[in-house]
Amino acid sequence: MSLIPDLHGRVALVTGGSRGIGEAIAIALAEAGADVAVNYRDRATDAERVVERIRAMGRTAVASRADVSKAADITPMVQTIAATLGPVDILVNNAGIALIRSLDELTEADFDETIAVNLKSVFLCTQAVLPHMRAQRWGRIVNISSGAARGAGAVGLHYNASKAGMEGLTRGYAARLVKEGITVNAVAPSLIETDMVRAGVASSPARIPLGRFGTSEEVAQVTLMLMGNAYMTGQTVALSGGMAFN
Ligand code: NAD
Repeated sequence: MSLIPDLHGRVALVTGGSRGIGEAIAIALAEAGADVAVNYRDRATDAERVVERIRAMGRTAVASRADVSKAADITPMVQTIAATLGPVDILVNNAGIALIRSLDELTEADFDETIAVNLKSVFLCTQAVLPHMRAQRWGRIVNISSGAARGAGAVGLHYNASKAGMEGLTRGYAARLVKEGITVNAVAPSLIETDMVRAGVASSPARIPLGRFGTSEEVAQVTLMLMGNAYMTGQTVALSGGMAFN
């Protein structure tokens, strides 16, 4: 068994793949041989830049627009990917928002938007790609959670709830799909240096015992590990520079 997963012939969809952690995961999947659909909501130019990086590696890639909180966007996106790259074998539910709100600031609209983008999207995207994975009896789904699913977190309780719900979906799907060759796991990073963190979650890595923020590539490395392993399912792998131990 090779320790580096061979993903040649596989088609991956990475939601929110146009920057940050999603971009690093899209590149890592292409390095392992997969063709990649880079989902984006608004930043077409960023998504095209990631697609060009992947094409330069000799793989096929497309930029796929969809707001992943909306079923009406996801269905045509998955159909277009199937028509251009082939049906999706690998799904990385990475798209997410972190609206920083105190207990007193949090509104119903903030709560609903966070649950729709961070949690409902996982259900909608998973449901959309499952028929092909189930038919071929192989699939890999990785959900990008957060240390906030189990800890206090710096964003707010709406974000905690969305990521805890995501881990609930991870275990729920894992239990129901294990006999069909499909694994479903989560990766829970804390304080990775991306726009999300730079935009206000933390200005410095002072509270990280390792003494620095994590990198998107370190999250991608853990995500790739999960692609090569058929025995591990329903788990959350945390990486936090020593801040939290699950
Ligand atoms: P980011 O803000 O750079 O990237 C988020 C991506 O999600 C963007 O590409 C954005 O366009 C996309 N997105 C947001 N809403 C969308 C929607 N409705 N439809 C489609 N795409 C949408 O942040 P990041 O740090 O790269 O975050 C990636 C994931 O990692 C998120 O789920 C986030 O919650 C999680 N995470 C990040 C950290 C961290 O420290 N950076 C820690 C824990 C978890």
